Amino acid sequence: MTSTMQPKVSMLPLPEAQQRLLTAIRSRMQLTATTVSIFSALDRTLAADLFSPIAVPTATNSAMDGYALRFADVTLNPQQRWQVAGQSLAGHPFDGEVPPGACIRITTGAVMPADLDTVVMQEDTQWAGDDATALFIKQRPIAGQHIRLCGSELEIGQLVLPQGTVLGPLQLGLLATLGIAQVSVYKKVRVGVLSSGDELRQPGEVLQDGDLFDSNRIMLLSVLKRFGCDVVDLGWVRDDPQALRSLLQKAADSVDVIVSSGGVSVGDADYTRQVLSELGQMDFWQVAIKPGKPFAFGWLNRSDTERRAQIPPVWLFGLPGNPVSAAVTCEQLLIPALQLLSGQQVQKPVLWPAKTVQGLRKKPGRLDMQRVSLQVTADGIKAESVGTDSSGMLSSMMHADALTWLEQQRNNVEPGEDIWVQPKSCWWR
Ligand code: AMP
Ligand code: MG
Repeated sequence: MTSTMQPKVSMLPLPEAQQRLLTAIRSRMQLTATTVSIFSALDRTLAADLFSPIAVPTATNSAMDGYALRFADVTLNPQQRWQVAGQSLAGHPFDGEVPPGACIRITTGAVMPADLDTVVMQEDTQWAGDDATALFIKQRPIAGQHIRLCGSELEIGQLVLPQGTVLGPLQLGLLATLGIAQVSVYKKVRVGVLSSGDELRQPGEVLQDGDLFDSNRIMLLSVLKRFGCDVVDLGWVRDDPQALRSLLQKAADSVDVIVSSGGVSVGDADYTRQVLSELGQMDFWQVAIKPGKPFAFGWLNRSDTERRAQIPPVWLFGLPGNPVSAAVTCEQLLIPALQLLSGQQVQKPVLWPAKTVQGLRKKPGRLDMQRVSLQVTADGIKAESVGTDSSGMLSSMMHADALTWLEQQRNNVEPGEDIWVQPKSCWWR
């Protein structure tokens, strides 16, 4: 690691914390590509620029059901009779000659004969008397109308999707359009998730006095799975440094990233930072955000000392125990890191301007991410508090549409003041 990576104890502003962990990861990152079928490539990240092997459309074709003709044959006579010389259907091109002044029946997507250049919609034609082989055109066409030119969407060799693109349904459809069956993607990031705290019980167990159920683990496993990671459930660990140490050591050789929740604060039972320092390095552990201040980032050494220099360490993200704090730090600090580790562009937060419905309490010192619901009105977006700023209430996070970005040094916010809000990302839907 570079000398700028010394442990830091002061509270880091969010952008600085994010930059710091991204820089550490980037300095030791190794991306590995693998080839998969497009049918298994949903949400994977493209490992190389992808160029079009064909022109799209491959041939000039009709955009409408109707009749194809040569525009040069159109006269000023509104009673001009057009002889129908044949047909071109999707998958069955016309292979004859079209005599001057004649047309052919054509369906949407069917290939245009080389010397025809214009399509008249079926609705704009009328059979000429009883003769089902000749027709009138009700409206004078425009030259070249209703056709899709060969290569008008994509030319051969054109860059279609750059490296780092996340393959969603539209990107996969586009790959199929190009006839691409296999695609080179980056390996999924393997992330182990654990919860820590003596008070935690698992759903299905019986609660004793003072216990509560472990909600963070399934929440984090789910969001990371949805993001596209290979997730490993590392289970639950007591507030015991020895138990935490052996769990982390065991996990360190089989995952790229470990995400823990709980035990990173300053309480007597908070051992994550201590154990992280013993097994590797703690880089920083306090971020100037609310909720989410106790957040530890560092790395664990691999137990295989020979390979230690060749492979990146295991990145450790120690999230706070309060479920809302865990969700917020996951969004603001963990997801950007996973984007980087997955070979994607790190997305900047999307912020919308809004006006507060009621006043919001705020003390200078931390970026305040309060949970708000949003309403789009003719006067812009209105942000209304969901009614609590307790970081223990996961249901309030569920009811929120967005988090406020009340700047670090800002004071109380009056009703109607301008603020920035960050809509909840798609991972939480
Ligand atoms: P800690 O960060 O360990 O001090 O925990 C802060 C608060 O979050 C405490 O009230 C814990 O009981 C609670 N907490 C810690 N871990 C979890 C978890 N996995 N699920 C739900 N609540 C938790
Ligand atoms: Mg705890």
